[in-house]
Amino acid sequence: MSKRHPIIAGNWKMNKIVREAQDYAIKLLGRIGNVTDVDVVVCAPFTALSTLKDELEESIIHIGAQDLFWVASGAFTGEISAEMLVDIACTYVIIGHSERREILKETDEDIAKKIKAALKAGLTPILCVGENLAQREEGRALAIVRGQVQKDLADLPSEDLKRVVIAYEPLWAIGTGKTSSSQDAQDMCEAIRTTLAGIAGTVADEVNILYGGSVKADNIAELMVQPDIDGALVGGASLDADGFAQLIENA
Ligand code: PGA
Repeated sequence: MSKRHPIIAGNWKMNKIVREAQDYAIKLLGRIGNVTDVDVVVCAPFTALSTLKDELEESIIHIGAQDLFWVASGAFTGEISAEMLVDIACTYVIIGHSERREILKETDEDIAKKIKAALKAGLTPILCVGENLAQREEGRALAIVRGQVQKDLADLPSEDLKRVVIAYEPLWAIGTGKTSSSQDAQDMCEAIRTTLAGIAGTVADEVNILYGGSVKADNIAELMVQPDIDGALVGGASLDADGFAQLIENA
């Protein structure tokens, strides 16, 4: 029997100043405050987290960050640790988003350290994996994604592995309006689960796997019915509180 539960996570990326974050939190809570069949997460910039704590702590909406650094404290100018995120009521953190891999040159080794730091502090990491367009066209999508999963989750005990959420986000679908077909998304999420089973056996059935890339209120339902898709990581369509509430209701 699967212990998975649906998760819809919004990723604001580098958007919203404090006042906008506050308005959003109040509005979203007003709309979906009674939703219990989906875990809702809002992943905000560091500067908005304190406001989200004020508005959402103890509510059904979980607060997430978009990155962390793997050391607890010390001389790492500009970085934020897992402990700091826990202190500000975060329970989730996105790790290894493709924008960080591509633009900020994060490596799988960095990402593996970040995953371990998140788990150690009690945070739920949302590990992003996905291939770019050239890799897909060359028929290498599966190998790329499988390699990321294996490297980013290397040496994790199964007890820890089942606390990780994986988001499959093909780069060509992010912010482009081009969603992967629900069948293609399902096929890759199934392949990710098979890869996890190779690492940790039946624990793979307990890992939540999300799809991300141009998810909207009008395509969420067909994604959610796929057997290996347990939810979504939503960028653009999470920025408007009413729109995101609608997406959650349709999930
Ligand atoms: P998008 O972004 O929904 O705007 O495509 C998804 C993501 O990058 O997490």
